[in-house]
Amino acid sequence: MSLNTEVAVVGGGIGGLTLGLKLARSKIDVMVIEKLEEPSSIYKGELLQPKSLQIFEKLDVLKDIQCNGFSFSRIAFEEGKNEFFMDYRILPGDYDYAVMIEHEKLKRILLSQALQYPNFQYLSGAFGKGYCDGRLIVERKNRKERLFVKADFYVGAEGRNSITRKEMNSKIKKIDYNHHFLTVTFPRPQSLDEGKIISKDERFLGLFPLPKAKVRSVYLIPKGSYKEFHAKGIDHFHQNYLELFPELKGYVTRLKDWSDIQLMIPTAFYADKYVNGRYAILGDAAHTVHPMAGEGMNMAIQDADILGELYESMYSTGRISPGRLKWYEKVRKPRAEKMISLSHLSALVYSYSNRFITGIRRKGLKQMERDKTLQFKQMLNVSGLGYWSESALDRFVQAGMLPARNRGLSSKAKRNYFYTEKDDYPWKS
Ligand SMILES: Cc1cc2nc3c(=O)[nH]c(=O)nc-3n(C[C@H](O)[C@H](O)[C@H](O)COP(=O)(O)OP(=O)(O)OC[C@H]3O[C@@H](n4cnc5c(N)ncnc54)[C@H](O)[C@@H]3O)c2cc1C
Repeated sequence: MSLNTEVAVVGGGIGGLTLGLKLARSKIDVMVIEKLEEPSSIYKGELLQPKSLQIFEKLDVLKDIQCNGFSFSRIAFEEGKNEFFMDYRILPGDYDYAVMIEHEKLKRILLSQALQYPNFQYLSGAFGKGYCDGRLIVERKNRKERLFVKADFYVGAEGRNSITRKEMNSKIKKIDYNHHFLTVTFPRPQSLDEGKIISKDERFLGLFPLPKAKVRSVYLIPKGSYKEFHAKGIDHFHQNYLELFPELKGYVTRLKDWSDIQLMIPTAFYADKYVNGRYAILGDAAHTVHPMAGEGMNMAIQDADILGELYESMYSTGRISPGRLKWYEKVRKPRAEKMISLSHLSALVYSYSNRFITGIRRKGLKQMERDKTLQFKQMLNVSGLGYWSESALDRFVQAGMLPARNRGLSSKAKRNYFYTEKDDYPWKS
């Protein structure tokens, strides 16, 4: 059997569904091909940064996301006796907060919106096997049925093991880390209503509030120590959390066995090209980041926004040419690479436990608390709303070799570092 569409998207994760919804709204025929038939129970990204919220507002799904998510404005960093806050409210404008939402819930919101458009097709239980003669081969019904999809454009949104990236002959550069994470969601105390990162010597616990009084946690363990950790039993797991945050007594202890606790292996990689002819890749297919800065899913959403807007321009103007896809790579690749570096640096800061590194980390956090420029830069870069590179001067301030600049910037000055419409969609001008 052969099916036709204008844009075929392999993978119905957050990236593929955001693109699918965007194209459906632009009256472009789009088909999303997803191998899973049921929602997945694997934990994935749940933190939506400000830029993603802005994108979702344009797609008319932000209200639904807010209703089903948990909004918060601050992340507290606890390092020994010191506490420092990263506050989203330092960002001018409407998107001065983040939202935590269960990954599968967000997928359901995007999918149900997209299904309202007759030009949106969703094939679940459909495995994208590869490409042959410019067509996508899809296997269904436990791989017993084979069909071919013919499209003007193919987008690989199928995550780390992308078949489209392979077809494009795009190579990846990979970084591995000396640590892994345990991750699990469990009930939380009501008072835990903002993000919290607790670090003590070599230990690290991240806590992010979800709706329905739950919290998603990540706990750092040395690479290769999972089996040993698991063998010590669930009480040992509780103990580790309680030593860092005693307020979790009566909450984390409700986890009775290991069945919900998942091992998360951080890696970072980026592909050397995001487009080739009629093929493009987005999200984890094009880049993965260390989860420390909570950016993976947000980068997929931002890719989908730029690529979707580009297709929209092509189809609405009739200038439908694979050559124009270069614009997508031009905008997104440098931004993704900056984000990989930012997440990598944050990861390094928590990867080593000697007194020297702990001292630097403590000093850095203290200086960040005092220095309004550093605070704004950090928050802006994480938000995705813009980018302002750190300078040598910032590094000296961070190291305590120069005094903190406690004079804040005006909203107007801050907005100068936001991406403009022209930065996001340069082909329009
Ligand atoms: C275990 C884990 C935990 C994570 N935790 C965090 C976190 O805490 N914070 C954060 O920001 N990020 C986290 N991430 C990363 C984040 O979830 C991803 O960056 C984000 O989901 C990327 O979205 P995506 O749509 O590009 O890819 P994915 O979410 O991987 O979606 C790809 C989709 O394609 C489907 N698929 C794959 N191959 C095929 C095929 N051949 N044919 C058809 N369908 C296919 C898959 O079933 C999946 O639905 C985590 C990732 C993992 C794996």
